[in-house]
Amino acid sequence: MTIEFRRAIFLASVPRTELAPPDEGAEVAFAGRSNAGKSSALNAITEQASLARTSKTPGRTQQINFFDLGQKRRLVDLPGFGYAKVPHRIKAQWQHHLSDYLHVRRSLRGLILVMDCRHPLTGYDQQMLNWCRDVGLSVHILLTKADKLKRGPAGNSLLAVRKRLPAFHPDAKAQLFSALKKTGIDEARQVLNNWLCHC
Ligand code: GDP
Repeated sequence: MTIEFRRAIFLASVPRTELAPPDEGAEVAFAGRSNAGKSSALNAITEQASLARTSKTPGRTQQINFFDLGQKRRLVDLPGFGYAKVPHRIKAQWQHHLSDYLHVRRSLRGLILVMDCRHPLTGYDQQMLNWCRDVGLSVHILLTKADKLKRGPAGNSLLAVRKRLPAFHPDAKAQLFSALKKTGIDEARQVLNNWLCHC
């Protein structure tokens, strides 16, 4: 079975896990600090200009968005926080919902963690990696906006991240990605396919 990522369609937007679509089949979640490039990565992988909203309205970022790939397969856009200027109480609430989602979702096969390759492994990223490690969830990192760096520095950023990763998650993987230049898309799709189809 291969996934037709281009066929992704919006399924549901929910504020809490208990309101999510049925927990059946398989899904992969995308996470990333606000502005890291998560929506652009989702749009590039699905070849859809506006599947995930790239706008920064705080109301939207609190929702967990589900996209249907058919055959009970889904992509999930998790709220990104860390950059948005929101009160501490609200931020703590989002963190609670995120952690809850990672803990209870049985169909969750892996997490794609999107980081700006120029500012990787922020506090948000480290927390996500630790949560995933604690629940035994696989993580694949997209070091995006790779087009902003020359080949040498981009490669160095990848190596530096790979070197530091074991401190946060024992077997997380990382790759370079650019939604703008459309690089790294096949590599990312391969990971998604493996997670969604071999379960
Ligand atoms: P999100 O908040 O993580 O969903 O981030 P967005 O996808 O909305 O992207 C944030 C900003 O980074 C936007 O201005 C995008 O145009 C820009 N951006 C995202 N991906 C890339 C990329 O691969 N290359 C470049 N140069 N800019 C990007």
